[in-house]
Amino acid sequence: MFQKKHSSYLLYGFQKNLILFIIWLSIAFHFIKIYKNPFLFIRIRKQILKLKQLYTANYGITKLAFVDGKYYFNSNMNGWPSKSFYRPLEIEVKKCFNQKITNLENLKIIQIALTKKCPLNCEHCFEGHELNKKDTLTLNDHKLIIEKIQKAGISVIQYGGGEPMTHVDDLIEILKSASNISDFYVYTSGFNCNIKNLEKLKSHGLTGISIGIDHFLPEKHNSFRRNDKAFQWAIDAAKNAQELKLVLTFTICVTKEFCTEENLMKYLEFAKENRASFIQLLEPRAVGNYENKDVNLSNNQIKILENFFLKSNSESKFKDYPIVLYTGYHQRKKGCLGAGENYIYIDTDGYMSSCPFCKNLKTHILDESHDNSILSLKSEGCALPKINN
Ligand code: SF4
Repeated sequence: MFQKKHSSYLLYGFQKNLILFIIWLSIAFHFIKIYKNPFLFIRIRKQILKLKQLYTANYGITKLAFVDGKYYFNSNMNGWPSKSFYRPLEIEVKKCFNQKITNLENLKIIQIALTKKCPLNCEHCFEGHELNKKDTLTLNDHKLIIEKIQKAGISVIQYGGGEPMTHVDDLIEILKSASNISDFYVYTSGFNCNIKNLEKLKSHGLTGISIGIDHFLPEKHNSFRRNDKAFQWAIDAAKNAQELKLVLTFTICVTKEFCTEENLMKYLEFAKENRASFIQLLEPRAVGNYENKDVNLSNNQIKILENFFLKSNSESKFKDYPIVLYTGYHQRKKGCLGAGENYIYIDTDGYMSSCPFCKNLKTHILDESHDNSILSLKSEGCALPKINN
């Protein structure tokens, strides 16, 4: 059941249930220590279960990924055991007891576009119109952004771009200036992810990397990414991340052309072979390089994706395969999980929006009016295409 010969592995069945039980016990101790009243825990547990339901399908948590001493059920959430694991739960509990929290404090994840620079020009790039323009945010601005959002307690911070690894020295400086209350992730094509760079980032607090890899066939991925080295970068990055015990996620933009059950199953095998703990499914959206293009998946294709997501996470024959994450599934069932509610995106100029795809720009994150802006993101919600059942 344990694949102990590797530094990271998946848990399922009894071992997974045992760890989940211990996690629940630790949550109970944590909140009883804070609120000094064991009876309140029934109410607290209810609130935490509500949060869990937002991110899981009906079958609950079927697998856990163990990486570098911590257990993860989602690479967009903090691992356990760690102080930061309890932070999103504390926020939910505060809300349940009507304690005051700001809109910024309420967020669980912030994604920051570090730079406009990128050596690629991928078919689906949502920052396609901004790529390789002059950066407006300085290293100092980025440090101020981190200071501000960590002051509000944000426990998951993801760096994207452009290609954040074009500015690896800046990333190292930012991580050095940050406190250890957050898990940091880099969203990368694999460019510049050599062992030396990843090792430095890890030594200053990097938790994991999410590699954009859009096909299991090198020539298809390279043509999508418009660079004949892209596949090799991605595979080497995966190998290095695995060696350094970083949480490894493969992120795929599932295009109309790719979206068949056969391709998705082959991708699952491919991600397993490359020892990814997670696969993140993204749907193409008509922004950036896809602007004005008919890229939205059909209802039938969305159903193929949903079935794949449910099957790969719940059927016992896939128990030791990577955990598949599919935000679109939860969004359609339960409403947008981002849009200022749990998540915001900060673009390459520092302006906030609901996500990289909804171009509903609000004020600059360093402006004082950030809280009202997050409130309006919340009220606008998300423009994810609906599915007709
Ligand atoms: S999707 Fe990422 S890697 Fe591709 S061009 Fe855009 S920023 Fe660069």
